Amino acid sequence: MTDSNDAEVQNALDPNPEHLDENDPNVARDPVCGMLVDKRTAQNTMSAPVNDKGVGTLYFHSPDCKSLFEANPAQYGYPSL
Ligand SMILES: [Zn+2]
Repeated sequence: MTDSNDAEVQNALDPNPEHLDENDPNVARDPVCGMLVDKRTAQNTMSAPVNDKGVGTLYFHSPDCKSLFEANPAQYGYPSL
């Protein structure tokens, strides 16, 4: 999946300042704010039941997002912890 037409477009508010690639297996999306997070350097992670099949690791770009998620995972589309 490529979108080369948009490669040169710069948004005024860049939600992905590190230019991570969502399709990179080392990149995850913060479920709270939507920022992309590099799994290799992520400081804020937790295990959570991501669906009815089991537990996965969630990656947050900041402790604040992790706290928000823990307070109300259902708001972000996840089952209760
Ligand atoms: Zn975040």
